[in-house]
Amino acid sequence: MSTPSPVPPRGTGIPTPPVAFDRAAGELGRRFAERPLPAGLLARLQGACNTVATDDDTCTEAARDWWPLSVTWALAGTAPSRAAAVAQPRSAAEVAAVLTVCHHARVPVTVAAGRSGVCGASIPVFGGVVLDLTAMAGIEAYDDTSLLVDVAPGTFGDHFEAALRQKHGATSGHWPQSMALSTVGGWLACRSAGQYSTRYGKIEDMVTGLQVALANGTLVRTGGRAPRAATGPDLTQLFVGSEGTLGVITSARLRVHPLPLAERRGAWGFAKFEDGLEACRHILRRGATPAVLRLYDPTESGRSFGFPDHCVLVALDEGAPTQIDGGWLVVEDACGRAEPLGEGPAQRWLAHRNQVADLGQLAAAGIVADTVEIASSWSALTGIYHDALRGVQELPGTLAVSAHQSHAYRDGACLYFTFAGRPDPAAAEAYYCSAWDAVVGATLERGGALSHHHGIGINRGRHMASALEGTLPMLASIKAALDPHGVLNPGKLGLDSPWGPPPWP
Ligand SMILES: Cc1cc2nc3c(=O)[nH]c(=O)nc-3n(C[C@H](O)[C@H](O)[C@H](O)COP(=O)(O)OP(=O)(O)OC[C@H]3O[C@@H](n4cnc5c(N)ncnc54)[C@H](O)[C@@H]3O)c2cc1C
Repeated sequence: MSTPSPVPPRGTGIPTPPVAFDRAAGELGRRFAERPLPAGLLARLQGACNTVATDDDTCTEAARDWWPLSVTWALAGTAPSRAAAVAQPRSAAEVAAVLTVCHHARVPVTVAAGRSGVCGASIPVFGGVVLDLTAMAGIEAYDDTSLLVDVAPGTFGDHFEAALRQKHGATSGHWPQSMALSTVGGWLACRSAGQYSTRYGKIEDMVTGLQVALANGTLVRTGGRAPRAATGPDLTQLFVGSEGTLGVITSARLRVHPLPLAERRGAWGFAKFEDGLEACRHILRRGATPAVLRLYDPTESGRSFGFPDHCVLVALDEGAPTQIDGGWLVVEDACGRAEPLGEGPAQRWLAHRNQVADLGQLAAAGIVADTVEIASSWSALTGIYHDALRGVQELPGTLAVSAHQSHAYRDGACLYFTFAGRPDPAAAEAYYCSAWDAVVGATLERGGALSHHHGIGINRGRHMASALEGTLPMLASIKAALDPHGVLNPGKLGLDSPWGPPPWP
């Protein structure tokens, strides 16, 4: 048992671009067409929101995120898009006023916050206004008796966690790898999952209520008054994962936890990936919930931990010592036949857990790479793992494909694939799509989920009809009811829009 790991230092509290553009914004090509604002709209926007920018730099930067494919575009002198204007509201009232203007003028509004999305969700593919929420930041209220916090949507994860720890002796328990790149509103909009999710749950388990600005500018509150309510369907959850297409989250009420008192770490080496998956399944099945339970296949065990002949399982738990003890007995028992590897791999994981890949360096070397996270029941997981690996390996140009299990449940788990290839440069985008199709095809074929936590954005839109198995029209009807002019983040979630179908691939 040791004391909990120190919290990494805070970042800048502003969006971090994945790579710098190699030329001035005005000289970049645009992958998705720009559209000028209708006459008179800029003045109305300026009346609605104090800070509105129209310069090339701001409008180009605010129109991109961490989608790896768009990094290869950037290195070739092409920006994904350019917003016609960027509005930076400081209050829910300003958000509502901007939405009212755009709704009546039928102009697209795309929310952007940390812009760490990896599927292009915050790229304004049909131009219009980008609503930059990063000026709406900070803790708004704290209820220590009920362990509830009200937080503004543009609060970056590391700033949120630091404020909770320093001022209130609490933790959110939500720790995505992109902690310093992403915001609370972005977590909710994308149904984010943190690295400690087996202990603390995912963002949908943490949220109890929201304030949301609807497309026509109406502000509504959902939930938030009690730990649970049987008052019809849960409308809070309607907005969780809606990626800015159904409303703009202007405040969130989240559950928090007392700071953990102790931590325990361990690692084991399994001969086969399947054996490690079986151990994870048994741990969850027997009711243990170690905060972190990550199993790496041989390729990743070699690359990340120097154990190419093992499948490394890293486990870490935190909380009260007695709480940890019981669960840890279950973990040790399930790993009984594996080789104990001590604390080294867990320490290595902790030291690197918030490091991000240098996408620019890979892309500059002609390497097309990305990660694909999916989820499925335990029964289907091994089949998906092998089919997906085989599918990507068979593609000409593939250099490597691997996976780890990163989030486990009693009924299944998340597999996180990484692929890298050096295809013929003229076929780079075709290779990228084929690699994605191989993993997604293997997943959907066996009944798995299209995404576990990165969401849909532009990149996965083409698979939404198959993934939702006939319920995409239901989602379209909800969208039409809440956003009748279709102005909120058009071109995403695989939905059609007044400007046409999603414009990629
Ligand atoms: C290196 C790296 C590691 C990552 N690791 C993880 C991880 O461990 N777990 C994980 O879940 N994700 C991870 N991600 C993905 C990404 O960080 C998450 O999707 C995150 O939730 C996005 O938040 P953001 O503030 O950056 O949102 P943005 O990228 O700015 O926006 C994402 C989407 O949310 C919408 N949106 C944002 N704010 C609001 C709001 N207030 N109201 C309505 N819609 C809104 C946008 O319109 C867009 O559709 C990672 C990304 C990177 C680059």
